[in-house]
Amino acid sequence: MAVVDEADAPVREERQVAENVVLDVRDLRMRYGTTDVLTGVNFIARTGEVVALLGPNGAGKTTTIEILEGFRMRSAGDLSVLGVDPARGDENWRARLGVVLQSWRDHGRWRVRELLEHLGLYYGPYSTDRILRPWNADELIEVVGLTEHAHKKISRLSGGQRRRLDVAIGIVGRPELLFLDEPTAGFDPEARREFHDVVHRLADENTTILLTTHDLDEAEKLADRILILAGGTIIADGSADELARRMSTEAEVKWTVDGQRFVHSTLDATGFVRELFVKHDTAVADLEVRRASLEDVYMVMVKEFESGRRDAAIHEFEGVHP
Ligand code: ADP
Repeated sequence: MAVVDEADAPVREERQVAENVVLDVRDLRMRYGTTDVLTGVNFIARTGEVVALLGPNGAGKTTTIEILEGFRMRSAGDLSVLGVDPARGDENWRARLGVVLQSWRDHGRWRVRELLEHLGLYYGPYSTDRILRPWNADELIEVVGLTEHAHKKISRLSGGQRRRLDVAIGIVGRPELLFLDEPTAGFDPEARREFHDVVHRLADENTTILLTTHDLDEAEKLADRILILAGGTIIADGSADELARRMSTEAEVKWTVDGQRFVHSTLDATGFVRELFVKHDTAVADLEVRRASLEDVYMVMVKEFESGRRDAAIHEFEGVHP
């Protein structure tokens, strides 16, 4: 374990409360056998923030989330999740978390409303008070868009409806912090959009959300902040816009003059467009400026990182074997 100065703890706690820090991850490390999967992960999340954790397969996203949920013991690092070290979280702490696991396969004979009402009982009596949990079953069913299917057996739900039920199960206790691991895998576009509405609604109610996804478009739409995990550390942390600006990737400008189409890639789209109007004035039509998408930025960052690491590895190898 990393050595933490105990004298710092009260100061840190005060800062967390003052700055609404819900998740505080410092130098998180995880080793499986002799393999270091996480080599020093650092990030924070504040109340009501939606944070997307992205990264190539095997980067350690699920490992990170499982450690924060208290399901997996870390090798080292200093963590605070809702003010508690997840390795020491008790039932009360757990009740404040929501976890959406991969699809809910049991209880196929239960009906949607029945199951949600039953699970809600674990969190105490229903109340309209935000502090007291859980959700009222009918309200929750409406939020996740299952009203029409409330009395259906779970085994009869479609894949997308089933996933919405997974989300309902994850949030039934009205969690302050929600972990969503690949929440929309297998959704059709309509179910995906409805699910995004649910996430926005939860964030509006100040639920903090940490999600992993392979869908970069989804991350861009949902997340206030993006974290890219690669090589065991966070290689980028910022809003989708900030990451795009930091990469200073080129924008694509498209336009027509007298019906003829043109395309030009430039780092300075505004300057280029200004010039275009100086030159062609009102003859410019169908103007479009497409900035780098999160996907473009992600690809560049992960590739650069990987080639940098490969170079470092080659360098190291050559050092050993000149
Ligand atoms: P991601 O979610 O980003 O795809 P994971 O956290 O699932 O990544 O896995 C990260 C790495 O750790 C992978 O190489 C995986 O094989 C390895 N790993 C995950 N769980 C275990 C485990 N229980 N024992 C050994 N290795 C594991």
